[in-house]
Amino acid sequence: MPVSCGLCEKRAMLKRPKTGGALCKECFFKVFEEEVHQTITSASLFKRGETVAIAASGGKDSTVLAHLMKLLNERHNYGLTLFLLSVDEGITGYRDDSLETVKRNQQQYELPLKVVSYKELYGWTMDEIVRQIGLKNNCTFCGVFRRQALDRGAMMLRVDKIVTGHNADDVAETVIMNVLRGDIARLQRCTAIVTGTEGAIPRCKPFKYTYEKEIVMYAYFKKLDYFSTECIYSPNAYRGHARTYLKDLESIRSTSIIDIIHSGECMSVSVKKDVKMPTQGTCDRCGYISSNELCKACVLLEGLNKGLPKLGIGKPHKARMALGLANTTNTSTTSGSQRKEGCRSCSCRGRQNAVVNDSPECKKDNGLSSLSKGDGDPTSTDSSMKKEVGSKSSTVGVGGDSVAACSCNGGVQKEPCADTVGAKGQSVLCGKDDENTPCACKKGKRQVGTRTTGDSRAMLDLDF
Ligand code: SF4
Ligand code: ZN
Repeated sequence: MPVSCGLCEKRAMLKRPKTGGALCKECFFKVFEEEVHQTITSASLFKRGETVAIAASGGKDSTVLAHLMKLLNERHNYGLTLFLLSVDEGITGYRDDSLETVKRNQQQYELPLKVVSYKELYGWTMDEIVRQIGLKNNCTFCGVFRRQALDRGAMMLRVDKIVTGHNADDVAETVIMNVLRGDIARLQRCTAIVTGTEGAIPRCKPFKYTYEKEIVMYAYFKKLDYFSTECIYSPNAYRGHARTYLKDLESIRSTSIIDIIHSGECMSVSVKKDVKMPTQGTCDRCGYISSNELCKACVLLEGLNKGLPKLGIGKPHKARMALGLANTTNTSTTSGSQRKEGCRSCSCRGRQNAVVNDSPECKKDNGLSSLSKGDGDPTSTDSSMKKEVGSKSSTVGVGGDSVAACSCNGGVQKEPCADTVGAKGQSVLCGKDDENTPCACKKGKRQVGTRTTGDSRAMLDLDF
């Protein structure tokens, strides 16, 4: 006997993964869209007049996100100006195909599209990186670079916010991973619906409470044009195990995903007072927000350019030692080096977390003036790096500009400058947080076929 829709008299077409309720297609569309609208309004994600970049990979999440952002913006008159923003990692046979999908989405949704590439920003494609480092740590590079690339693209577009397609499953996986690792600092941040508010362009997750299965169903029934092939470099990452565990829990109890998110939110509130968060400064080289002298992207890039690709993998202090960063300010007076915050009287140039030393030179040095002359520049380590880095498209810079070519005095930034930090003079988060955000390809999810308007898993879920 046919099952009726729980909201109208029509025949039900699906069972909602989130609630188990039977719905017809039209009622499913209605509740799905309304729930995302509620998430947006209750968290006050946007203000009228803002410009928003939709991170678009061509996958199901970002395609549904682009569709919904346009739909809800018009339906509820949010007053937003929308852009599509894509990152081209340079993965032949994967990203080149998915970018074709994004380009079709651009036509379908009539939204302007900006594509930033790793090659343009860092001088390396992921294909080249994998040839250098193999298939073990490739996703560390990719995740760190993608995070910054997205921020840089957003700065070029001068947007106020970035929206990403991270869904409830992604957030719940991240909670599980952080609990299993005992990473309390990340646990605090990972359930936030808006991140990157400290100096960076804020990132919003309108799908924070939206189940992945429902996104797939929506895309399937709406016949949206999305790409569903897995990245050719996708490993069996830790996230994949968390995902399998979550799917097992979900099969026993459908509310598990939302329950885990709520638990993560509660844990985040309860640990807040006790956990000391790292002090945010800026990367000495590229000006991005970083709690170390160099941001993670610059360390990884330095390793690649020096033929030491494992440099940025593993313990940060080992990479710092290998890069000579313990001697950053003065290679001749290393023993007295120490960290001071916000020092304005020495060669640390007033940057938070800059390494200063106790040498007489440091005490006499009045900071910026000595740097402009270039004599006695205590960042000799930086200078030598810049030369070498320049041989491979140099350090990260907006639009492919190298830091060395910038007017900010060879990467030693007095003020945030347009060439290296973005036209708005903003700096952004370094790549350290990337583990909190799974990559666009949703590694660990086996997706089959090439471009498609459906998904085999969604079909399975349609059976009553
Ligand atoms: Fe990059 Fe994701 Fe592919 Fe890893 S699986 S290389 S993070 S696109
Ligand atoms: Zn940097």
